[in-house]
Amino acid sequence: MIEIKDLHKSYKTGSTSLHVLKGINFSVAEGELVSIMGSSGSGKSTLLNILGMLDEADEGSYYLDGVPIKNLNEKIAARYRNKFLGFVFQSFNLISYKTALDNVALPLYYQGIKRKERIERAMSYLEKVGLAPWASHLPNELSGGQKQRVAIARALASDPKVLLADEPTGALDSKTSYEVMDLIQSINEEGRTILIVTHEHDIAQMTKRIVNLKDGVIIDDTKVNQVKALHNV
Ligand code: ADP
Ligand code: MG
Repeated sequence: MIEIKDLHKSYKTGSTSLHVLKGINFSVAEGELVSIMGSSGSGKSTLLNILGMLDEADEGSYYLDGVPIKNLNEKIAARYRNKFLGFVFQSFNLISYKTALDNVALPLYYQGIKRKERIERAMSYLEKVGLAPWASHLPNELSGGQKQRVAIARALASDPKVLLADEPTGALDSKTSYEVMDLIQSINEEGRTILIVTHEHDIAQMTKRIVNLKDGVIIDDTKVNQVKALHNV
C-alpha cells in the first residue's frame, strides 16, 4: 500500500537548513496497523505529512497503492488525497460552526456528491463511531473523545485506502484514549490500513507494528503482540 525509499527532507529557514528525515525506507502492506514512535522533534509529523501528501520530500521515492507520488499538480494531488487518504489530527480540526453531521459530510461535498447522499453517508459513518445521537450538535458541545470520533468519521467518509492519524490521542485523557484506540482497532479489523504517530508507548502497543524514529532515521521496526484497547477501559 505504501512504499518509501531513501526519503529525505530538510526545512530551510533563511540561511540555515535542518535535515529532519535522513533516508527513510519502509513499506506498509494493506491491512496493517502501524505506529510511528519517537521523541518530540524526531520527524514523525514530517514523515506523516509526506505520506499524507500534505508535504513533499526533497529526495527519495514514494509509491501509494502503486502510484508514484511526485511532482503532481495540485488538482491531481487533491484527487489522490481524496481517493487514498483520510487524515486525523491531535487537535481534531473540526469546523466550529458546522454540526457533527456537516463536518463528516464536508469531504463528500468536495467530491461532488449530491446533498442527499452526502447526508446519508455521513450519518452512516457517525453511526459507525457511535455518535448518531449527536449529529446535530456543534463541536463545542462535544467532549474531546466525541470530537475525535467525529474527526475519524470524517476521515473515513470518503472511504480512503489509508487512514493517517497524527497523535490522535494526544489531547485526550487515558480512558478516552483507549476508547479512541478501540475504534481505530475495529476500523483496522475491517481491513483498513492505518498509520498512527504517537510518543506514548502504551498507545503504540495497541497497534501491530512499531516503527521507531530517531534523529531522522528508523532505528527499529518491530511487529508487536497487539494489546486490545478495551482491556484498559
Ligand atoms: P515530531 O512530530 O516528531 O515532534 P516534527 O516532524 O514536527 O517532529 O519536526 C521535526 C523537526 O523539524 C523539529 O525540529 C521541528 O522544529 C522542525 N520543523 C517541523 N516543521 C517545520 C517547518 N515547517 N519549518 C521549519 N522547521 C520545521
Ligand atoms: Mg508531531
